[in-house]
Amino acid sequence: MIVMKFGGTSVEDAKAMRTVIEIVRREQNRRPIVVLSAISGATNILLQSARTAQEGKLDDAILLLNGLFDRHVTLMENLIDDRSANQQLIASFKPRFEELRNLCRGIAILGERTNRSLNAIASVGELLSSQILSEAIRDQGLPVKCVDARSFMITDSQFVSAVPQFDQINTKTKEILAPLIASNVIVVTQGFIGSNAQGITTTLGRGGSDYTASIIGASLDAEEIQIWTDVNGVLTSDPRIAPAAQKLRMISFREAAELAYFGAKVLHPSTIFPAVKKNIPVVVLNSKRPENSGTRIVSNPPKTNVPVKSIACKRGITVVNVQSLRMLMAYGFLESIFSVFNKYATSVDLVSTSEVAVSLTIDNTSKLDKIAAELSTFAEVSILEKQGIICIVGDQMRSTAGVADQIFHALREINLVMISQGASEINMSLVIDESQVDEAVRRLHKHFFESIPSTDLFEPVGEK
Ligand code: ADP
Ligand code: ASP
Ligand code: MG
Repeated sequence: MIVMKFGGTSVEDAKAMRTVIEIVRREQNRRPIVVLSAISGATNILLQSARTAQEGKLDDAILLLNGLFDRHVTLMENLIDDRSANQQLIASFKPRFEELRNLCRGIAILGERTNRSLNAIASVGELLSSQILSEAIRDQGLPVKCVDARSFMITDSQFVSAVPQFDQINTKTKEILAPLIASNVIVVTQGFIGSNAQGITTTLGRGGSDYTASIIGASLDAEEIQIWTDVNGVLTSDPRIAPAAQKLRMISFREAAELAYFGAKVLHPSTIFPAVKKNIPVVVLNSKRPENSGTRIVSNPPKTNVPVKSIACKRGITVVNVQSLRMLMAYGFLESIFSVFNKYATSVDLVSTSEVAVSLTIDNTSKLDKIAAELSTFAEVSILEKQGIICIVGDQMRSTAGVADQIFHALREINLVMISQGASEINMSLVIDESQVDEAVRRLHKHFFESIPSTDLFEPVGEK
């Protein structure tokens, strides 16, 4: 079987959904499980309605919801010919939207939105899009079943960044999804959403549909996990920053994982991990150009002579500097620092150390006050906000001399706050002021990709 995940822009309107159906039909013999995102922008609107309600602007929140309802109705009417199926779908959407309005009323009254209520609201986008797509597939005469992901995507109770419970998911997917695909039914399900042990809706974090796809793929030993999006594959950079970005034909799991972790939005940061465990290729494809071969992410792609493959970046980074002369030559300093971050469940991305100081970067600052106060009991702490990370990735970086020199040369006018060669030796990460991130990416991109003769690795974005 294969998993086919379609992102928001792949299901933004009736035309896009029709293309999706064609793509799925082509793969029908490979027993697809289709994982769907909300239609483009829907999750943002849903979350915005909750925010607006919290600000006491209930009428505006309801207007946002009504606009979203209308968008879904228009989509259905342009997509599904069967009038009575359409009417039934609209009838089933009405109570969902009534519930959304009620949730917003509750938020407006309390002036507070909990993560639990945010999930209840955010999850509706995927529920609507998947219902529409499966009805449209049925309308085309194909065997299809829409399965509620909350029946098998069991997570813990960290509502907005829930952690999947793999053992339970393995059992449930085998019980619920496997028999359907075995009887050649196309399964349509929602990305992003799950439920905790009590059956309460959770979500896997923004962009989490990619993660859903790879979890399903790994639990059912898929032959391939396809991530259909709005670009030709994994590119040498975010094309919104470096428009000359080129497609990579093949990269390794490790390269993709680093890129995703350090901000390449094309893949949710956790997507690669389940695929690696089962050695399942992840293929990133463009639903607007289905004929393009996309990017294959595999365990050991053929070696190339290209040291740098791609540049990712992340904004909103905070650097925490921890210094203590008392710690000179003493052991246990690092342990005492990390135990504080551990206690407040805040993950650290980059670390660099000297004899008496440690610099760390974090992107979740919700517990920063507490962390700083606790670190201050044994060290001097200074905080640097509004920083960005640039991450330069390539499997062959470790065996190529002079790459760091080229990086520093390309960025010679930019102040580097931190430098870290990833322990995996396939990346180098730099911390710079957030305002210089775009400029730094463009300079590096120009140096590494815009002046070299194109090789087999690359393919210009404009091609095909
Ligand atoms: P989807 O809705 O399909 O999940 P996303 O918007 O989450 O799509 O991810 C696709 C976008 O990721 C692209 O449109 C592109 O702007 C951005 N992106 C950032 N870095 C990269 C990269 N290295 N390669 C490809 N796309 C990237
Ligand atoms: N719809 C969700 C989001 O916008 C999940 C996804 O698209 O992957 O974050
Ligand atoms: Mg995405």
